[in-house]
Formats: sequence, structure tokens, C-alpha cells
Amino acid sequence: WEISTKMAGTSRADAMQAAVDDAKPVGASYARVEEAVVVHAKIHLTIQADDAGLAGWVEYDVEVRADGVQVVLLDLRHLEVVKAGPKVHKTSEWNANAFATGAPAGAIGAPLAIGLGDDPRKKGDVVAVRVEFETEAGEDKFGSALQALTKEQTSGKENGLAFTQCQAIHARSLFPCQDTPAVKFTFEATMTVPPPRRVLMAACEVPLSGQEGQSKTEEGKLRYDFVQKVPVPAYLFAFAVGKFESREIGPRTRVWAEPNMVDAAAAEFADTNKFLEAAESLAGPYRWGRYDLLMLPPSFPYGGMENPCLTFVTPTLIAGDGSLAHVVAHEIAHSWTGNLVTNKGWDHFWLNEGWTVFLERKILGQVYGEEILQLHAIAGYEELCEEVSRIGPSHRFTALIPRLEGNDDPDDAFSKVPYEKGFYFLYFLQELVGGPAQFEPFMKDYIQHFALSTVDSCQFKAYFEQYFKSDPKVATVEWDKWFHQPGMPPCENLYDHTLAEAARALASEWHSADPLGVGNEEFHPSFSDIQGWSVHQLIVFLDRLLALRAMQPLHNSMVKKLGEAYKFFESGNSEIKSRFLRLGVFAGNTQCYEGAVDMLKAQGRMKFLRPLYRALNQGDSQARELAKTTFQENKSRYHPIAAKMVGADLGLS
Ligand SMILES: [Zn+2]
Repeated sequence: WEISTKMAGTSRADAMQAAVDDAKPVGASYARVEEAVVVHAKIHLTIQADDAGLAGWVEYDVEVRADGVQVVLLDLRHLEVVKAGPKVHKTSEWNANAFATGAPAGAIGAPLAIGLGDDPRKKGDVVAVRVEFETEAGEDKFGSALQALTKEQTSGKENGLAFTQCQAIHARSLFPCQDTPAVKFTFEATMTVPPPRRVLMAACEVPLSGQEGQSKTEEGKLRYDFVQKVPVPAYLFAFAVGKFESREIGPRTRVWAEPNMVDAAAAEFADTNKFLEAAESLAGPYRWGRYDLLMLPPSFPYGGMENPCLTFVTPTLIAGDGSLAHVVAHEIAHSWTGNLVTNKGWDHFWLNEGWTVFLERKILGQVYGEEILQLHAIAGYEELCEEVSRIGPSHRFTALIPRLEGNDDPDDAFSKVPYEKGFYFLYFLQELVGGPAQFEPFMKDYIQHFALSTVDSCQFKAYFEQYFKSDPKVATVEWDKWFHQPGMPPCENLYDHTLAEAARALASEWHSADPLGVGNEEFHPSFSDIQGWSVHQLIVFLDRLLALRAMQPLHNSMVKKLGEAYKFFESGNSEIKSRFLRLGVFAGNTQCYEGAVDMLKAQGRMKFLRPLYRALNQGDSQARELAKTTFQENKSRYHPIAAKMVGADLGLS
């Protein structure tokens, strides 16, 4: 009773100040989900002329979850709050000055407390609050979520382009929000932009005058309205502004891209509808209406981002033959695992990504055959081995649950581990209970049970144990080891190695031809070694060779033979090229130094930036110098998240 007495006797302003003073981040967010949560938002954003900054307002419906709560806590970073407060009772007016902000703390940002009004609040009340804000002045005009490209930085070179990336905790630099995956809300959003650019959003566009894409002008600007009827966490809020064109590639799918890229994108992603149909058969109905793709410029920092209704993808997926479209299968899978069933906190990120890799590979298995699923599983295991040895097998970030501190930035823990160790665990469970015939119905059931909601590792365990309660083998699962033990998984999965075998054998051949890294004049590779191989067989070959040569690089002359015989020097496939270049950089091959620098200049996807920069940075003085100068010259073109991560890798920030 002490607390409630104290609160009752405190003025409203004091309560707000006390709330931000006492605020401690939990799971990288200041939101107190046991007290008050956002359930719906009206979002209004304006990009200022010449992409000079961002301003707007948000009206939230806040659901009170405990009696006596006086404030709702939001996250913000790099934003100036102009006004904020609750709706004045029985009017359409807003209290403009019922808020307090705390001190910012690095990537986590600052807490914002907004008062919930004078009346005592009861559990179950829904209170409307409004916050008006603009980006803080300064060199970094947009904060970390939004990257604005000048027209010179686009491929069309005629109009500037801006796009967002909110995962993991960047939404708070677009608008004040409860930036935790534990909170999901529906929203309506409006954006106005000067023509000829248009807005695309991870939501459904609301047609004006009954015609999609039509927009009315407000002070010469174009206005776009959107609605998201499925509740989403803040990290799935996304938009892009630019001159985009689209092509239909399926009954509910369109590819968007800059006009000069749109046909290549449409051709590359032609299998999208097959993936969608396979996913529905495995996971249940697709609930988001449209599934569109937006291909962004090369600085997009990820392979893809599962923004609802509108997956964002990197142009590095353009291989000319659809061979990297598995990334689209991955993002489609997120429509169920991640977006519909969302991890409750970043410690349980494996439930988003492990499940999504699992469903992605199930989709590939259905569309291309079981042996392709097996090949991808093996390739994934190679990646997991490399990642665990890079991070360190006793590092907590190699555990399925990495035990993040309240103020850890989840981006710092980002790695392949939740993806591949998560997949590995789910595959292990599948085999334990008798294979796909038993496990696939469970997968669908789990997804439908937790749909529209959030889930943590404990709930997953309980649900699995309940579902398979009649199977005695379930009691043998070492949950604690799987969840908390760092390093490689505690048990081994048996995969079908038919397609991987030749790739691994060839890697061994190269390895034993030059065991000491001094070269071998008797060794004569030819293109027939890899004739007819799929891209993923080549990936397995290169990953295996990278692993075998981690301690003793190949001799420079061997890298030259490898590049020439297998045509890796001229490969247009980003996955092949980046791996070959790393082998070459480790061997001190200067042609590969040049190739690496070219690739670092041409795109900004972290999957390629970080290993290539690390490889150069581990090389001789020429390579290290190239890493530094290339980064200094190009970091302003990289997305802020990528620039931060690479800078940290190179020890430059
Ligand atoms: Zn993913």
C-alpha cells in the first residue's frame, strides 16, 4: 500500500518525472508491459523537403493492465517531443504537456512517460494519448532507422530514395513507441511526400477514390494512406519513399523496384507464388492480404526483411537464374513465424529465425525436392560451425538463449546462431518424434495456436511437451543444454549427404593438394569438376574449403587456379563471389583484394560486408590498409546499422 499512497499523493508531473527517473530497460525497451500497452496507433509522418528530416504525430490507444497506473512508458531515440498527453475527457482536445523524457542511453535511447489523465485508471481501461515529434537537429538527420539516398546513390539517378529498417530496436527513432516485440498493435498510417516519389508501406494501401495508388495532394504533396489490421510489433513498421515501378508476378504479388531494375527483379523472383502456396499448405492460410516484394538499392543492409505485406530485399539476390530466391522463401515463411507468431523478447529470437529457416527449408523441399532441403540443411550447419568458432564456443551469444542484459543492443548479438542452431534444434525434435509426418502437423498447430500473439522459449517447450505427451522420447530432450549451453548443438543430426558429398570431396581434394600452403604444380583442376552443380553445392564446397583452410591459407597460385578453372573471378553470384574472395584474401591474392574492394563499394549487405572486411583486416599490411580506406570512403553510403557494425568489427568506432 505504500506505493499506492505515495502515487496518490504525488502530482501528475511528479509521477511522470518519477516514471522516467525510475525507468530501467527490460529487453532493450523501457515499456512496462505489465502496466500499460499500446493496442492501436494512428501514425502520421512527413518527410521534410529535400529529405531534411522527419516530423509527425502518433495517437495511441493504450490498454491499462493494472489498477492505478498513471503513465505509459515509450521508447524514443534521436527524436524531439514537441507535445504529448492524453485526450481530455469527453472532448476532442489533447493535453499537450503531460509528458517527461529521461536521459538517453546509447542505442537504447530514452524513456518517454505520457500521463494517462487525472482519473484513477483501472485494469482494462483504454486511454487515448497523442505525441507530436520531430527528428533532432544534427548531422545524423534521420537517426538509425531511415536511410535517405541522394539521387546519385540510386540506380535511376533521377530521384532520391529513403527506406527504413526497424529491426531490432530502430523503430524508436522513427516515432516514439513501445519498441519491444512483446507489444503488438494494429495501425493506420498516413504519409505525405512531394511528387514524383511515392510511398510504399508494410501494410495495405487504402485506396482513395476507390482506386489503388491514387493519391490526393495536400499543399502540392501526395498523400498515401495505409492500414495494418493484423497486430504487429514496432520492429515490423516499415516504409520506403522513391520512384518505384511494379510488375505483377502472381495473383497477390507484385515486385516493386526502381524503374530500371524492375524487370530483372520480376524475372528473378518468378517462383514467389509457388513458395507462398507451399507455405500455406505447411503453415495455414496467409493472413496478410497481399504479398509484395520491394527490391531496394544495394545499400540495404540485409538479404531481406520480412516487413508485412511488403518484403524488402537486396539487389544482391539478382543472380540471373533465381538461384538465391531461397531468401524470398525465408521472408515468406516469416509471414507465419515471426510476424504472426512473434518472439516475446530478443532472447527468444531463435523462435523467430530458427522456425523461419525451418519453414523456409520445408518450402524449398516441397518446391524443389527433399534433397534440396537436405543440401540447405548441410550448408546451414557449415555456416553454424564457422559462426560458433568466430564468436567463440563458450560465448553466451552462441547459446540459443543468449541472456541479453536489459540495455544490450540486440544488433550486437546478431549472428547466424539463432537461425542455424534454431533450425538444428527443430530438425532434431522432428527426428525425435518420428519425422515430418508427426512434426509437420505440430508445426501448423503451434503456429495457429500462437497466431497474432507472442511466445517465449518456455511456452514453446510446454506446448511441445503437451502436444507429444504420449511419446516417451520427449522426456529425453535436454532442454537446458539446448537453450542455455553455448557452442555447437549437444546432439548430432543425420542428414542425407547425396548432394553435399561431391562438394565436400572436391574441397578435400583441394585441401590435400596443398596441405602446407606452398602450392602444387601437379594439380590441374578443370571446369568439368563442377559441371552441372547447383549454386548451393558450390556454396558447400567453398564453405568447406574455407573451414579446412582457416589455419593455413591456400597458396596464392592455388587461388589463381581455383578462380580461373571454376570461373569464380567473373562470378555474378554474390554468395559464390564473396566466399571465393575471402579464400583469395586469406591467401594474399591481390586480384582478390581488388575484387573484395569492388564488392565492398558496390553493395552494403552486412552478410557480405562484415566477412570481407574482417578477411581484409586479418591480412597483410596492404590488406589492412585497404579495409580501413575502403570503409572510410564508403561508410557514408552504407546503411547506419551496417556502418556501425563494420566500424566495430574494424575497431574504428
Ligand atoms: Zn529471418
